[in-house]
Amino acid sequence: MALKEEIALSYSIKKAAVIGSGVMGSGIAAHLANIGIPTLLLDIVPKELSDEEKLKGLSLEDKIVRNRLSELALKKLLKQKPAPLTSKDNLALIEAGNLEDDLSKLAEVDWIIEVVVEKLKVKKQVFEQIDQYRKQGSIVSSNTSGISVEAMAEDRSEDFKKHFLGTHFFNPPRYLKLLEVIPTQHTNPAVVQFMKVFGEDVLGKGVVLAKDTPNFIGNRIGTYGLLVTVQEMLKGGYSVGEVDSVTGPLIGRPKSATFRTLDVVGLDTFIHVANNVYDQVDGKEKEVFTVPAFMKKMFENGWLGSKSGQGFYLKK
Ligand code: NAD
Repeated sequence: MALKEEIALSYSIKKAAVIGSGVMGSGIAAHLANIGIPTLLLDIVPKELSDEEKLKGLSLEDKIVRNRLSELALKKLLKQKPAPLTSKDNLALIEAGNLEDDLSKLAEVDWIIEVVVEKLKVKKQVFEQIDQYRKQGSIVSSNTSGISVEAMAEDRSEDFKKHFLGTHFFNPPRYLKLLEVIPTQHTNPAVVQFMKVFGEDVLGKGVVLAKDTPNFIGNRIGTYGLLVTVQEMLKGGYSVGEVDSVTGPLIGRPKSATFRTLDVVGLDTFIHVANNVYDQVDGKEKEVFTVPAFMKKMFENGWLGSKSGQGFYLKK
């Protein structure tokens, strides 16, 4: 048997679970459903509004839709542009639920992908829950943009550590081909090899193996480029529109305009990702990875991008 076939047979993903149904989690679940893999999509189902949300006039239904777990929210996976789901039928392969109520269902799946907020503490809590309920031998991965994969697996069981790695999808998962696979020193080499073959042959991705360094490869370069762009824009007195003109459609790259992309990513996620490198570099590099004050102000105002309706652009 050819080596590749042997690797492909070493694990089998018949069913998956995605934890976190935000911008990326819903897109990854849709990508798996498009391939024909039944997928659990679990999040925290909001039961009440915070005082701040009440002041903003948000309804509980709005919040549930924003967490992409209601029937209505799932249907949006077909209508968004670009649409995460290729067909209406694939929607039936996604089973949405509340993480707290459905933890026992994690024992039924072969691959669990964590896609919650970019905070080490929250991710570690989720992995503690997963470790208690997953079946031995199942693969667990994180979609972190750049938090240390090794640090996320700290305190976990031996079997968890052997089957744990980073699988970093890019946004939107249906369209962007890059998948960074990030093993730790504990990850079983067979799991890494399997994920590479599975990522390429089944998920249809271009897989790059990355080291567990802050923000890995794509986001280390991407965050640097974006922050330098903003610093030069402020120095030169240019506007958001002007920068987007010369980084996007007018140079034949309709999808890569700097601030439109940031609206799709989410400013909260971007700030966590930038801070992640800032905390781990010294001296002059710290200056580069400092988030400018106006972006922090936007974040405080809740102008997070498409997910909140207002970012650098107003969502139409
Ligand atoms: P998001 O804010 O859109 O969604 C995060 C989701 O996690 C929310 O639905 C939230 O309710 C849920 N959540 C929070 N705590 C939870 C918990 N304890 N249990 C279950 N669910 C919980 O964020 P996102 O943009 O989808 O990012 C998710 C992850 O993917 C982050 O690690 C981020 O760095 C990474 N990522 C994001 C992008 C991007 O472009 N946005 C790209 C690649 C990777």
